[in-house]
Amino acid sequence: MSLRIAVITLFPEIISAYFQSGVISRAPGCGLDLELISLREFGQGPHQKVDDRPYGGGPGMVLRADVLKAALDKARQFCPQGVVVAFSPVGRRIEQQLFRSWMPQDGKIRELILLAGRYEGFDQRFLDKYVDDCWSLGDFVLSGGEIPALACLDGFARLLPGVLNTAESFEKESFGPVYFDHPHYTRPATFEGDGVPEILLSGHHENIEQWRLGQSALLKKKWRPDHD
Ligand code: SAM
Repeated sequence: MSLRIAVITLFPEIISAYFQSGVISRAPGCGLDLELISLREFGQGPHQKVDDRPYGGGPGMVLRADVLKAALDKARQFCPQGVVVAFSPVGRRIEQQLFRSWMPQDGKIRELILLAGRYEGFDQRFLDKYVDDCWSLGDFVLSGGEIPALACLDGFARLLPGVLNTAESFEKESFGPVYFDHPHYTRPATFEGDGVPEILLSGHHENIEQWRLGQSALLKKKWRPDHD
């Protein structure tokens, strides 16, 4: 199975650097086909300009529709069927369920084209004509779409078989079947005078499981009472 993703960005080096370290570095060997497309390559004139001043005035610059379209045409060579997603603070909120919904089934290939914005964002005509969906990392404004793109690439990659050491790792974490992770403890057995909860030393797996479920419910109540 394969998840084919093209990312259009002004800073491909930010994305490629992330894939050098940790479990995510295994993703390209586990079904993630990633193509990075530099928006600058399609810029206009001697300075390869990708942006211009907004019509109607106001601060900041806007990514040009013609430059974006040229980059999209290149991305289409890699992802001919790709669903086109632009990142925006006002998009649909990215959640674990979204990552799951993109996992390829039955050996099929899924294709996505992700657009990382910069400056004030994208010319609306390009969004209206070529973009299928708009995703947000949360109700805050970042300088660019590279961090949201990386959040998605990481979220997708760790669900691909072989990226994590065991499937249990993601089945038993937050937003999986139990919803909220429980507290974890490891060595040393005593840290600044604090031991670990007795039950974790009991070896009684059923009781430990019950205790963990109770703890995750407490954490959810404390930090995310809004979450169903
Ligand atoms: N003018 C935009 C606004 O007020 O909503 C902010 C643009 S932001 C400085 C530049 C780019 O960063 C956006 O086009 C988008 O691609 C990305 N970005 C910033 N915050 C984001 C968020 N919370 N979720 C997804 N993308 C975001």
